[in-house]
Amino acid sequence: MTGRVLVVNCGSSSLKYRLVDVAAGEALAWGLAERIGQPEGRLTHARAGAEPDVAEQPLPDHEAALTAALAAFDRTGPALADAGLVAVAHRVVHGGDRFSAPVLVDDDVLRAVRELAALAPLHNPVNAVGIDVARRAFPDLPHVAVFDTAFHATLPAAASTYAVPREWAREHGVRRYGFHGTSHAFVSRGAAELLGRPLEETNTVVLHLGNGASATAVAGGRSVDTSMGMTPLEGLVMGTRSGDVDPALGAHLHRVAGLGPVEVDRALNGAGGMLALAGTNDLREVHRRIADGDDAAVLALDVFCHRVRRYVGAFMAVLGRTDAIAFTGGIGENDAVVRARSLAGLEPLGVRLDDERNAVRAGGARRVSADGSPVAVLVVPTDEELEMARQTVALLAR
Ligand code: AMP
Repeated sequence: MTGRVLVVNCGSSSLKYRLVDVAAGEALAWGLAERIGQPEGRLTHARAGAEPDVAEQPLPDHEAALTAALAAFDRTGPALADAGLVAVAHRVVHGGDRFSAPVLVDDDVLRAVRELAALAPLHNPVNAVGIDVARRAFPDLPHVAVFDTAFHATLPAAASTYAVPREWAREHGVRRYGFHGTSHAFVSRGAAELLGRPLEETNTVVLHLGNGASATAVAGGRSVDTSMGMTPLEGLVMGTRSGDVDPALGAHLHRVAGLGPVEVDRALNGAGGMLALAGTNDLREVHRRIADGDDAAVLALDVFCHRVRRYVGAFMAVLGRTDAIAFTGGIGENDAVVRARSLAGLEPLGVRLDDERNAVRAGGARRVSADGSPVAVLVVPTDEELEMARQTVALLAR
């Protein structure tokens, strides 16, 4: 697989991009536009081997952010015109029932991405803007949409179906889709490689623990269950998202506090999770507060790890035989305490961590379980942009 791909990832108020050399598996340049739509925007642009270039500038919308990013390539390089670009890859959060693999973008696909905003109102509209602006900037290149939900298209009906009135599913797309698919695909493959086993014969519980967090049961390279559902709110405790709550919560808060559905939705997505419990969504700060004797931070970490453990147990049961548990994401890759606390006491299930290996701070994919642990515990750093670039080149080669 060869070629260079510009990967664009539009979030609700940010835009990340990366120029990826697929054959080398590395980034030649990358950047981040932050605080889009707020008075003080910032664009950080970096090329391999050079100091990042930081520009404080207003970025009124995603169009302005992508335009500023392209200008940064012109200013500090590498020049995109000479970069050997073969495609632009776009992250799209929700592919609904329609997209189960990356697709070449045409007007019809772009319209579908916009229509799927009903299921992902914060994400799909800005994903569509990114595609639109980039298509105008690079009219001669193929543009490929890579969907967060696609890897979970293999979910069996038993795992994807909510027990709700059937017309909700039929008419309004109410079912479980799952997210973080690009990361779960990359990490489950990396886990099999680290174990030296064929992907088709490897069963892994992947724990993507970052500001967003999800667990996936991957059987032979296929997603068979995942913690996020119709939206990315379900499942694990996250930075600002509650994860699982009683579905009756909304009606209860309406009755007792007069809260409307939009307020509850906003709070569960933006003011829940670690932010609600500990007062910060940054796990490093949670640890600092615990060291300072903050009881709320202690409870927050307990809740976080308890929820991870619950999903580990559930997904080991779903898989039947588990070869590996693979941690990834900012927390999964870096936080030895979370890894240890989430798996403590699971020795009877064949999960034996090696405390010393787990405590070592290291980059790269590595094993942190004890020799002879029936279930290997791995840390596999995720690289969603590389995975998107690979999938894009693979699609073009077909
Ligand atoms: P992500 O969304 O994958 O970028 O992950 C962000 C989360 O990773 C935040 O909660 C950070 O606090 C956490 N994180 C990043 N580095 C570390 C670290 N060295 N130790 C613990 N947590 C970390």
